[in-house]
Amino acid sequence: PLVLGIETSCDETGVGIVRGRTLLANAVASSMDEHARFGGVVPEVAARAHVEAIGPTIERAVAEAGISLDELDAIAVTSGPGLAGALMVGVAAAKSLALALGKPLYAVNHLVGHVGADLLQGDGLRPVGGGEIGALELPTVALLVSGGHTSLLLVRDLVGEVELLGETIDDAAGEAFDKVARLLGLPYPGGPHIDRVAAEGDPNAIRFPRGLTKPADLERHRYDFSFSGLKTSVARWVERTRDAGDEVPVADVAASFREAVADVLTAKAIAACRDLGVPRLLLGGGVAANARVRALAAERAEAAGVILRVPPLSLCTDNGAMIASLGAQLVAAGHAPSTLDFGADSTLPVTEVQVAVAG
Ligand code: ATP
Ligand code: MG
Ligand code: FE
Repeated sequence: PLVLGIETSCDETGVGIVRGRTLLANAVASSMDEHARFGGVVPEVAARAHVEAIGPTIERAVAEAGISLDELDAIAVTSGPGLAGALMVGVAAAKSLALALGKPLYAVNHLVGHVGADLLQGDGLRPVGGGEIGALELPTVALLVSGGHTSLLLVRDLVGEVELLGETIDDAAGEAFDKVARLLGLPYPGGPHIDRVAAEGDPNAIRFPRGLTKPADLERHRYDFSFSGLKTSVARWVERTRDAGDEVPVADVAASFREAVADVLTAKAIAACRDLGVPRLLLGGGVAANARVRALAAERAEAAGVILRVPPLSLCTDNGAMIASLGAQLVAAGHAPSTLDFGADSTLPVTEVQVAVAG
C-alpha cells in the first residue's frame, strides 16, 4: 500500500511516503536551532514551528516521491507519546488531509514507529555497520534512545503485540547528553559534541555511576534506566575540579560519561535478549548515532550471540517515513482505520500500537 506518514511529536516535522516496505520520500524539517539557546526543546516553540513547516514538508515529500495525493491508500499520523501541542499540529493536518482526500487514517504510536523504520528499504539506504536492511525478524528486543525517550521494548508483532520491558525513571539518555554537554560548555544538541570530544579522552579516567545496576535496584528495575544521578555526579565532579582551581579535563569527562551511558544501555538491552531468549536487538533514536553506544552494543551482541540492527541514522531520528511504514503494515494486515475522534495523547502507552480503531 501507498501510505503517507506525518510525525510531529517533538522538534522534527516529518512527512514520509512509503509503498509497503519501500521508502519513496522522507522530508524532515527540524526546529532544533530555535531551541539551542534554551538548551532543550521548548514545547511552544516546537508547536509553532510545526504549524509553519507542515504544509511545505508535505509538498516536499509528495514531490520527492513523485506521486499525487489521490493515489494514496492511507494516511498515518503519530498520535503519541510526545509533546501535546506539537502532536496536535500533526493530528490536525492528518485529519484535514484524510477528510479532504477521502482516505483512511491510521493514528499510531511514535515508539512503535521507531521499530517500523527498520523495515524500510530504498535507494541509498545503508544500515549503520553493514548487514541486511529491511529484513527485520520478530520477535526482537528494541532499545529506543533519544532526547525524549529511553525505552526497552519486546516486539512480538509490530501491528499487535508490543511490550514495554523498561524505561527511564527520570531523564532520557539524549537529555543527559545535552545537559552534560551544557555544563562542559559544549553547544546544543550535546550528543554529537560529546561524542566528538570523547574520542580524544580516556573512558576510564573517572568512574561515574551506572544507574539502577546495584543488585537491590535490579530486583525492581531490571530493565529500567536512570540518568539523573549520573548527570549530577558529573556536575559535582566538574564543580569540585573548578573549585580546586584545576582545569577540567573535558575530553576525559566526556569519555567517562559516554562510557557510563553506553555501558548501562547495552548491558540492560543484552540482558533482556538473554533473559527472554530473543537473539535480536534493534537500536533506534538519535542516541543510536553515538559511536560508543554502537561499538559496545556490537561487541556485547556478538559475545551474546545476538544479531544487532541499527537502521540508517536518517531513519533513527524522528521522521515521517517510520510512521508511514507502520501505517503500511497496519493496512497490509487488514486492520481497520482509526475513527476521526482521536486526539493527541502525550502519554500513549507503547502497548497501544494504533488508537481509535473503527468497529
Ligand atoms: P524523540 O524523543 O521524540 O524521539 P528527539 O528530537 O529528542 O525526540 P532525536 O531527534 O531522535 O530525538 O534525537 C535527538 C537526541 O539525540 C539529542 O538529545 C541528541 O543530543 C542525541 N544525539 C544525537 N547524536 C548523538 C550522539 N552522537 N551521541 C549521543 N547522543 C546523540
Ligand atoms: Mg529531534
Ligand atoms: Fe522519537
